[in-house]
Amino acid sequence: MTSYEPGALALAVARAGSGLSFAVEELPPRAARSVALASSLGAPVVPVLEVAAVVHQHARDLAWAVDRAAAEDVFVWLDMEDHTTTDATLDAFEAETRTHDGGVGVCVQANLQRTADDIDRLAPLPGKVRLVKGAYDEPADIAYTRKDRVDAAYRELLTTMFQQFDGGIAVGSHDPAMVELARDLHDEFGTDFEIQMLMGVREDAQYELAETDDVWQYVPYGSKWLSYLYRRVAERRENLRFALRAIVN
Ligand SMILES: Cc1cc2nc3c(=O)[nH]c(=O)nc-3n(C[C@H](O)[C@H](O)[C@H](O)COP(=O)(O)OP(=O)(O)OC[C@H]3O[C@@H](n4cnc5c(N)ncnc54)[C@H](O)[C@@H]3O)c2cc1C
Repeated sequence: MTSYEPGALALAVARAGSGLSFAVEELPPRAARSVALASSLGAPVVPVLEVAAVVHQHARDLAWAVDRAAAEDVFVWLDMEDHTTTDATLDAFEAETRTHDGGVGVCVQANLQRTADDIDRLAPLPGKVRLVKGAYDEPADIAYTRKDRVDAAYRELLTTMFQQFDGGIAVGSHDPAMVELARDLHDEFGTDFEIQMLMGVREDAQYELAETDDVWQYVPYGSKWLSYLYRRVAERRENLRFALRAIVN
C-alpha cells in the first residue's frame, strides 16, 4: 500500500542529509506534519526526520521513508499520537529499529497507564525512546488525568528507563524538575540521556542546559507550522506568547 509519490520524500530527506531543513511542503499530505529536529547550540545542525503517527500505520510507507533517511544518515523519530495509535506505532518502531540497528526513536507518554509495560518491551530493543507527559486528552479508564499523577508517573517511568536502558533516553519535557531528576539518575546509574524541548519554549533554559547536557530542539518546518502552533497553544496557553514573540523576531 504505497501512497506517496516516492520522489517527493526522497527529495526532502536528501536535503536534510545535506544539512538543510526538510522541504515539508514537498511531502505528500500524510507525511506533511513531519518536522525536523535540530541539535540546538554550538554543534552543527543535525537534521532528523520526525514522522507523524498516521504514517506509522502504513508499514510500507514508513519502511520506505526510514530506508531513505538511513541512506542519508538521518535519524528518524516516530512521534506518538492518541492511544488508538500506540500499538501500531510501537510495532512499527520495533520492526524499523531492528532493521536499522537502532537508527530510529519512538515517543511514549507518561499519562497512559500502559506505558510501564511498553517500557519493559522497549528496554531490550536498539534505538532511542523519548518520554513525554502526553499531549492528548485520554479516557480516565486508561490514562492518568490529574497533573500531579502524570508527573508522578513520569518520575517512576524515567527512573525505570535509567535502570533498564543502556542509553538512548530522551527527556521530552520543559519541566525543570524532570530535567533535574534525569541528571540525578544519570549520576546514579551512568546511563546516557538527551534533553528535547520545543522550539520557542524556555529557550534561555535550553541554551543554558546545552552548555553541560545534550539538548535537542524540536523544530516545526514547512507549511504546517500553523497547525503545529494550534496544537502547542491547545496544550498550554502561555505558548501563544512565546510563538508570537518568535514570529515577530
Ligand atoms: C521534544 C518534544 C516532543 C514531543 N512529542 C510528543 C509526542 O510525540 N506525543 C505527545 O503526546 N506529546 C509530545 N510532546 C508534548 C508533551 O507530551 C507535553 O504535552 C508537553 O511537553 C508539556 O509537558 P512538559 O513536561 O513540557 O511540561 P508541563 O508539565 O506542561 O510543565 C511543567 C513545568 O515546565 C515548565 N514549563 C513548561 N512549559 C513552559 C513554557 N511554555 N514556558 C515556561 N515554562 C514552561 C514550567 O515550570 C511548568 O510548571 C512533546 C514534547 C517535547 C518537548
